Amino acid sequence: MKKRLFSLTIFLLLIASVFVFRLNTESTPLDDKPIDEANLDHKEDKPAEIEVEKDYKPEEEDKEDLLTGTSFVDDEGKVIVKNTDDILVLVNKNRNLPSDYVPEDLVVPNVRFPFEEFHEKKQMRKEAAKALEELFKAAEEEGIYLFAISGYRSYERQKYLFDIRAERDGFEEANKLTAYPGQSEHQTGLAMDVSCQSLGFDLNEKFGQTVEGIWLKENAHRFGFIIRYEKDKVDITGYSYEPWHIRYVGKDAAKEIYEKNITLEEYLGDKTSIPVQK
Ligand SMILES: [Zn+2]
Repeated sequence: MKKRLFSLTIFLLLIASVFVFRLNTESTPLDDKPIDEANLDHKEDKPAEIEVEKDYKPEEEDKEDLLTGTSFVDDEGKVIVKNTDDILVLVNKNRNLPSDYVPEDLVVPNVRFPFEEFHEKKQMRKEAAKALEELFKAAEEEGIYLFAISGYRSYERQKYLFDIRAERDGFEEANKLTAYPGQSEHQTGLAMDVSCQSLGFDLNEKFGQTVEGIWLKENAHRFGFIIRYEKDKVDITGYSYEPWHIRYVGKDAAKEIYEKNITLEEYLGDKTSIPVQK
């Protein structure tokens, strides 16, 4: 008897849920369309007729897909990126590279350095190195002499540099100006710090006002690079203005990022807020 009553309850529940489901679907004019198509329609016309959440922004929702599945949370609660070899890999104060990540295709680009001897920081990943050579060549053809200062940086070397600074200035202070190990774009092999002779090859904000810095800002995207840490984007990138730090993302992304004056975070649709720097 109990069993029959149970089956009857299940049956009634099923009927009720089908009824509710029909009610829901009938209330929207887009009932037969797959979700993606419905979103597209929504973007193009009359969003007011469709019931959506108040803060729903279709463009941002679409962008978010670019980061889907690119990270996981480790035992300590840290976000670790998985698409380490992707030229669009996003590494910042929220997204860490694995400590043992070393790009497999590091090479020394054939560009001007202010020093002769080999150093790991001369290296970049092959695709980025080739693009850097083209960028430097194009600059030189216009009488602009750029110097490559620092490219690839291993996790161990970043840790060494961070520890020195933290010991001298304290953790908070160090974290403002030096990336925490695993959080430096230099570990990707896709970034290069660039300077010029008039600054004594130093990396400082004045580079943004030199002819070399201005040329770099206006032309880097043509070769697939972006100025990664812009002056007015500190609250998004989490880093101070660094007109000398260029990051390879490929020509398509670089063009869009340059033209829209956005950050890599915005381009990829990353909405995680960066820890505020004081
Ligand atoms: Zn840098």
